[in-house]
Amino acid sequence: MKRFDLGKSLTASALVWTMLMMPLLAFGQTRISMSKNKYKIQDDVKLGQQAAAEVEQQMPILNDYEASRYIQDVGRRLVNAIPSQFQHPEFRYTFKVVNARDINAFALPGGPMYINRGMIEAARNEGEMAGVMAHELSHVALRHGTAQATKMNNPLNQILGIGAVLGGAVLGGQQGAQLGQIFAQGYFTRFSREYETQADILGSQIMAQAGYDPRDLANMFKTIERQGGSGTPEFLSSHPSPANRYATIEREAAMLRVSNPIGRTAQFERTQSQLRGMGRAPSMQEIAQNAQRYPQGQGRGGNGQQNPMANGRYSNRVQYPSQQMRIFNGGGIQLNVPNNWQQFQQSQTEIWFAPDGAYGAQGITHGALVGLSQSRTNNIDQATQDYVEGILQGNNYLRQTSNYERVNIGGRQGYATVLSGRSNLTNRNEMTTVYTTQLRNGNLFYIVTVSPENEASNYNYAFRNMIRSLRIND
Ligand SMILES: [Zn+2]
Repeated sequence: MKRFDLGKSLTASALVWTMLMMPLLAFGQTRISMSKNKYKIQDDVKLGQQAAAEVEQQMPILNDYEASRYIQDVGRRLVNAIPSQFQHPEFRYTFKVVNARDINAFALPGGPMYINRGMIEAARNEGEMAGVMAHELSHVALRHGTAQATKMNNPLNQILGIGAVLGGAVLGGQQGAQLGQIFAQGYFTRFSREYETQADILGSQIMAQAGYDPRDLANMFKTIERQGGSGTPEFLSSHPSPANRYATIEREAAMLRVSNPIGRTAQFERTQSQLRGMGRAPSMQEIAQNAQRYPQGQGRGGNGQQNPMANGRYSNRVQYPSQQMRIFNGGGIQLNVPNNWQQFQQSQTEIWFAPDGAYGAQGITHGALVGLSQSRTNNIDQATQDYVEGILQGNNYLRQTSNYERVNIGGRQGYATVLSGRSNLTNRNEMTTVYTTQLRNGNLFYIVTVSPENEASNYNYAFRNMIRSLRIND
């Protein structure tokens, strides 16, 4: 099971792009030059990697093999079409799908790109989707993040300071409470009009070179407007005006020749219908709200610090839980834990336990976590449901496969419910049981146990022992 707390301040959807203006003609296509940049190429790479680590802890990345592979294929085709003068061998372009419904995408310096599921679902064809990706790719290739920091001319704007601009919220690392605000502000829409124009122009050129019709980038804006409903995505409402952007892209497209452009593809249709069939994805706003509901981050220092489990390696052979138990005691909680399980303090309010071979950057495959969650309601039914929803959103392979069963936890009334689904870490069915009860102050206490289904019998004793031994001192 994966971390699902979306805790710190983040980010990203907000990031996004806006767009453009006036090109200069040269050799049949507009010539673009790199902006002044006092940072090293390696700075882009480093910042992007830090920001990506944060993003992936806080946004629900869709772990779907088919969709991921497809998006990587399209991404690869576009990367290969970047003009040679803008190719930086140090950059590593990666492409991941975020399980969010908003029509959005963003890229971080040095290459990591995130594409919302909603964007793929909304696009009318592969060309439209590729258009947004090409625009984002162009910001990266042109090093707009560090170029913008260069321009800002702020003496404090040293390498760490840049984080505040680039990863923005991503590296800010405050508590979830700020998240909503950051989403609302559109942290990343601060690229200058000039940069947005450049990204549309270079994006058009990359599209053409990769075999797409650049007009599909403009078409995507229209698709978004049509589908946007009341909540127009930020990047459309910002500078430059959509009309100017269409004009720029049209002008560029007229100079670029693409015969028989890629439009609809079988792979696109397959991926799109697969995603549409997945059930409703959370909105960025809901993700932000969840982040507030599951505050995180204080414990990790919040400045791009790694997930404490990140150094772990997953193994096919995980030791059975020791029959020997040790006593965990902290924060008013006491319970037994198998002796051979490591302990990871994920935040001030959450601790994960897992044996060697069962933990890593992507969460745990065997073990348990124990924590407190501030609930927006005093109603334990509602608080439990909210909490379970958070897990399901962060672990999209899981489905709730039992009702909420009334159980006794630490001498008080509580609930247990089972979530299961095929984990791509183990390639086996995972069984996750969520136990919840309420503290006197109304907060939710939870224990979540995790193991592959076919090993569940080996874990029964340990899990039962944990629950039975629990003492809550509140
Ligand atoms: Zn942009």
